[in-house]
Amino acid sequence: MSLNVVTPSRLVLASGNAGKLREFDALLRPLGFDLVTQSSLGVTEAEEPFETFVENALAKARHAARSTGLPALADDSGICVGALGGMPGVRSARYAALAGGEHSDSANNARLVAELAGQADRRASYVCVLVLVRHATDPMPLIAEAQWHGEVIASPRGAGGFGYDPYFWLPEEGCTAAELTASRKNQISHRGQALRSLVERLRAAPGVALLGPR
Ligand code: IMP
Repeated sequence: MSLNVVTPSRLVLASGNAGKLREFDALLRPLGFDLVTQSSLGVTEAEEPFETFVENALAKARHAARSTGLPALADDSGICVGALGGMPGVRSARYAALAGGEHSDSANNARLVAELAGQADRRASYVCVLVLVRHATDPMPLIAEAQWHGEVIASPRGAGGFGYDPYFWLPEEGCTAAELTASRKNQISHRGQALRSLVERLRAAPGVALLGPR
């Protein structure tokens, strides 16, 4: 896949999450994007005070663009569990911490499994909303979103991925997200699907999408 935008395009990723960086880099480098994390440029994490993924992603993208002067890509993502009324949702990264626990993947997973104890309906969806802004006050951000459906299991399987992946069972694949190869996860995940949709928007709106100097 190749994309005719101004290249190479330096793009700041509005995140310090190493798992997200690996996944985006694998998908964007072949398209000519030079992805740098905001943390490597000394930018601190933005506040994520909102109740929707899109509002948080927009806030993160604007913060990264404002702090660096570069175009910015933000991802706000999480896991929504129907039996828990959509929780943890936008609170996925700090799910355990909100209940007084650690800020860690293992604590988040322990809380999720505990909340679902005895629950027959274990369906869950990963959600990813991507926002790309050319500059901090960009009036036409590119936005793409996708969901990835699965089920939460009670015991972990697999060592790949990050976050909730060892507990995210995919019936069609017969394994968890943490048992997929990195390339298979990128093919089918919420993030991979959202990114392909964003790339389609870049192709469809090159005048809006150019990432060169303003
Ligand atoms: P954010 O950085 O505020 O968008 O929080 C995203 C959180 O959602 C991560 O810290 C993970 O807990 C969870 N998450 C999002 N995408 C994934 C994924 O692909 N695998 C596992 N967990 C994910």
